Amino acid sequence: MTRPPLAIVGGGILGLAVAGSLHRRSPGLPLIVLEKESEVGRHQTGHNSGVVHSGVYYRPGSLKARLCVEGRGRMVEYLRKHSLPYEECGKIIVATAAAEIPRLQELRRRATENGVPAVTWMEPGELQRFEPAVTGLAALRVPGTGITDYRAVARSLREELESDGVEVRREVRVEGGEVREEGIVLQTTSGPLEAMHVVNCGGLYSDRIARSLGGNPSVAIVPFRGEYYLIRTGRTDLLRGLVYPVPDPELPFLGVHFTRTVTGGIEVGPNAVWAMAREGYTKTTVNPREVAWALTYPGFLRVARRELWTGAYEMLRSLDKATFLRDLQRLVPSLEERDLAPGGAGVRAQAVTSGGQLCDDFVIDEGPRSMHILNAPSPGATASLAIADYVVDRLAASAGRPLG
Ligand SMILES: Cc1cc2nc3c(=O)[nH]c(=O)nc-3n(C[C@H](O)[C@H](O)[C@H](O)COP(=O)(O)OP(=O)(O)OC[C@H]3O[C@@H](n4cnc5c(N)ncnc54)[C@H](O)[C@@H]3O)c2cc1C
Repeated sequence: MTRPPLAIVGGGILGLAVAGSLHRRSPGLPLIVLEKESEVGRHQTGHNSGVVHSGVYYRPGSLKARLCVEGRGRMVEYLRKHSLPYEECGKIIVATAAAEIPRLQELRRRATENGVPAVTWMEPGELQRFEPAVTGLAALRVPGTGITDYRAVARSLREELESDGVEVRREVRVEGGEVREEGIVLQTTSGPLEAMHVVNCGGLYSDRIARSLGGNPSVAIVPFRGEYYLIRTGRTDLLRGLVYPVPDPELPFLGVHFTRTVTGGIEVGPNAVWAMAREGYTKTTVNPREVAWALTYPGFLRVARRELWTGAYEMLRSLDKATFLRDLQRLVPSLEERDLAPGGAGVRAQAVTSGGQLCDDFVIDEGPRSMHILNAPSPGATASLAIADYVVDRLAASAGRPLG
């Protein structure tokens, strides 16, 4: 009799990386990846800034700090081995107000503690020579930050899995599951599927999937859309690398920044506006059921009350190009409105506790015969290969025996 597989829900970069890690660790273990779209990497993985982060921002000792630094090394190795796009263009984080200097110093301290190499402090003169279009009071230079195309990474991970005999079944949505003594029976849009264990990498729907599998997740997902503009052709030689503001330490977002793309363009963004649909990539996409749910979730209401002014400003900046431009001009004063063309958008799966905390670190919960990745926003793509190994270690530890 064939053993039921371990099922991975979600074919984003994390689901695929978890499947790859499991397959390497236990080649005999039957595995299946279930993805609702017709191709992998169609949501957060395919709508992000494409940055391979270095690990500067994250609280020392956090999962983000550890797995970003480890994951960056693994990702760069993977990109080189598979001849995927990668450019190590480096980044600078620029303080434009005196109040930001202590926060920039704190980032330098974190970089050292997290083991990010070669980070240097730049005074205004040096900054001017290094990145002439940028103005600031001080900056941190992080030469190891790079850019890639995570959609291409996801495709490559899928192809590798398939050539190793692991099925990545597409156009199958997991709608729930029943936990039994010997496993878990998943209800899917293509019929029931018996699995011995489930790893939920459902991104924007991971909390709902966890609940539908009998779990009691500690957090819920609140979707935050990040909108981009593109710098028009002819101005793309404006910057040599990536340029970031000093982030607000109270929020898990990095602030609108300038990112080079592997196709030679420059994107600016993303902002962070509440999306009225989990997969709401445009301002007009509204899912009434998801809005109604959010308005009854105490955690969302608490965030909305506490961050009322920040939320209102984000909304204004989303609707008003001039406001967006003004924020960018703090970093690059020569930028003009006509330099900005509309770009794309991504939606972040940001976990919020019922007490109203925006989770800063990665959150991974366990349920009956299941494990759930519930908070894996940026730098989740950079860290994906390291997060996958961490998840597989936890699976083995909770099984109390080798997985194969
Ligand atoms: C705007 C933005 C910018 C970002 N910038 C960066 C960056 O520069 N660098 C970086 O490292 N990280 C960045 N991130 C974060 C990074 O994109 C995520 O950490 C990463 O993509 C998470 O991968 P995932 O596999 O968990 O999620 P996803 O890519 O969202 O994958 C989840 C998958 O689950 C599938 N799914 C959902 N429900 C079901 C179901 N019921 N049945 C079957 N399948 C289902 C979805 O279709 C989807 O394919 C950014 C994110 C955003 C949104």
